Amino acid sequence: MSATFPVIAVAGLGVESSTFSPARTDAPAFQPQRGVDVLGRYPFLAPGQPLRAAADWRGALVGKALPGGTVTASAYADLSGELIAKLQGLGPIDGLWYDIHGAMTVEGMDDAEAELLARIRETVGLDVIVSTSMDLHGNVSRTLVHLTDLITCYRMAPHEDAMETKERAARNLVDQLTGGGPRPVKAWIPVPVLLAGEQTSTRIEPAKGLYAAVEEVEAAQGVTDAAMWVGYAWADEPRNRAAVVVTGPDESAVTGGAERLARAFWDARHDFVFVAPTGTLADCLDEALASTAQPYFVSDTGDNPTAGGAGDVTWGLGQLLARPELQGPCGPTVLYASLPGPTAVDTAARAGIGATVTVTAGAEVDGRYAAPLTMTGVVHAVRHGDPDAGTEAVLRVGSVYVILTRLRKPYHHEHDFTDLELNPRTADVVIVKIGYLEPELFAVAADWKMALTPGGVDQDLQRLGHHRIRRPMFPFDPRMADPDLSARIIAPSSQPFSGPED
Ligand SMILES: [Zn+2]
Repeated sequence: MSATFPVIAVAGLGVESSTFSPARTDAPAFQPQRGVDVLGRYPFLAPGQPLRAAADWRGALVGKALPGGTVTASAYADLSGELIAKLQGLGPIDGLWYDIHGAMTVEGMDDAEAELLARIRETVGLDVIVSTSMDLHGNVSRTLVHLTDLITCYRMAPHEDAMETKERAARNLVDQLTGGGPRPVKAWIPVPVLLAGEQTSTRIEPAKGLYAAVEEVEAAQGVTDAAMWVGYAWADEPRNRAAVVVTGPDESAVTGGAERLARAFWDARHDFVFVAPTGTLADCLDEALASTAQPYFVSDTGDNPTAGGAGDVTWGLGQLLARPELQGPCGPTVLYASLPGPTAVDTAARAGIGATVTVTAGAEVDGRYAAPLTMTGVVHAVRHGDPDAGTEAVLRVGSVYVILTRLRKPYHHEHDFTDLELNPRTADVVIVKIGYLEPELFAVAADWKMALTPGGVDQDLQRLGHHRIRRPMFPFDPRMADPDLSARIIAPSSQPFSGPED
């Protein structure tokens, strides 16, 4: 099919959801956008941009949620039903850009993104060219590759190239539709490795070099795009593992490129280490409080809401507040971000800045490791209207400034702190529920250690208890034999599904 001015729909649901968290994700969390509002999400589709002018772009429905727990069956039914209805309302289309994350788990369903794409195909037809863009922490089953024509993912973690990746997916789709060539050949290779995101930052080796090779493969003659997924470790489905897909017009080029990347990933499996030194929380706090490096950052990693943690585990904060060094107001200045506790936030807001309050917060969603935490402190700041947190309140407990929120919120930016009259640059210790530090905080940190704390996204994968992932899998089966890393050429969606999910 060739169209000089193709009609392209944009649709997708994205969330990274941990099946090891008791939290659930509901429909409003996706903040779905419809129609022309969808196009407003993407700067490269703004009016006047070359890509916008190259096609008739039509938004169906795109929703993206903060990482969290499993999506409820009813939320998925509502959102997917509306997405399909919106697509039907668009009339005939030539192409579809499927903008997803790839680690959405839904109650009672495996491989939710492939299931949704199958329903989309039933609606729009098998001739429509589909381009899929994903997070590198997504999972790529054979079914998903079968249903799409082009597929790609980020090449950086942290994901500084997120928008660049989406633009590449959109541009390759336009080129495919206007160029009129045959459907791309797709080479897929599952790699039986499952690693924590914090072991695969592209700031350091081996991921840095592996992802540099993705660009080299993409640059080869006969290749349109190349992508390598780390996969998502905090869900327990058969599809959770690393994968490589290379697409393009030339079968031998995509085969060679995919096999090169898969082999390199497998050969590097023993070299992945955490992006920062790790330790128990007690060890990290000992070191941070003794250090002259200021500010010293500690990641409370097990409950990281940006990886899918509930965010309200109180275990880490409880340990911190029990430290004898931090009991008085003259102790070292420690910032803690953050703990949800809606009642506590309301109490602090009502009492006002300077008031002393006793509040209880946390462990409403995930109380498996520690009970709700009661603390007495002075209200330091109150801020209303945050898009994620709603209201935030800072309570000074001894020398610890505890950020409490109505709803969970990731703290990634310096202004997240300065908006609350807190200065991370002059604090002695900053503790954040996060894994690897996002770029702004990374730049502020004089030193940094990751505490391996309990929670729905425990970085110690073997503690979690996966039961449904494929085995053998590295590092669960450290002495497993070399896997089959030959390229599987996946038939276009217009032909029947072939081959096992191997
Ligand atoms: Zn990611």
